[in-house]
Amino acid sequence: MLRALIFDVDGTLAETEDLHRQAFNRAFAAVGLPWHWDAALYADLLTVMGGKERLAHYIDTQHAAEAGALHALAPEIHARKTAGYGELLSECRLPLRPGIARLVAEARGAGIRLAIATTTSRPNVDQLLAVNFPPGAQPFDVIASGDEAKRKKPAPDIFLLALAGLDVAATEAVAFEDSTAGIASARGAGLPVLATRSRYTESHRLDGAFSAVSDLGEPGRPHRHLAGLAWPGHVVTLAALQDWHAGRR
Ligand SMILES: [Mg+2]
Repeated sequence: MLRALIFDVDGTLAETEDLHRQAFNRAFAAVGLPWHWDAALYADLLTVMGGKERLAHYIDTQHAAEAGALHALAPEIHARKTAGYGELLSECRLPLRPGIARLVAEARGAGIRLAIATTTSRPNVDQLLAVNFPPGAQPFDVIASGDEAKRKKPAPDIFLLALAGLDVAATEAVAFEDSTAGIASARGAGLPVLATRSRYTESHRLDGAFSAVSDLGEPGRPHRHLAGLAWPGHVVTLAALQDWHAGRR
């Protein structure tokens, strides 16, 4: 039986990546660094999962000569980035991607459990949910985020943590992802993965997913099918997910 849905956050629940990029740039300016991450560079840097890890990788590869001093400054940069990201999210009221709120409501109504498995820091998750769900109505039973898992995606740790929190088996759940590393992480935890393509993962291979689509779609606003299983009416509904899940045993 399908008992749980587990969602990645950045690129999957919402197109958050460009706000992360802008927040990094604001943080660099605030500490007096003349750095600017443009969209193309940020797309490359997104192969490193986790904001702190991404920053450390950039320092090591682009500013190796001053790496010691820059790593010492990194916690302040990251703290300013997280605060700035929260401000940007609230300012622009960043919406969820097509179909997310509908599918979450369908699952909630059917007693299906919901979880988040993300490498992003917890305040970033809370802020996105606060912007998109009424106070006190946050629908996720389990939120596994940031540094709770020792190894970031593509390691399976964060999805395993979400499964343990939900107390369901991987075969009873479906993961939603938008990146190559995220798909590998979920698959490593034994989860089937439905991939949606996001703005910043346009070049990513979505191979490991049993179905890849442009987004979940809405009735009257169908998605584009990309690969693997296609969905009736080009919309991912809970009923269609349950049908697919029942058929794979
Ligand atoms: Mg993602």
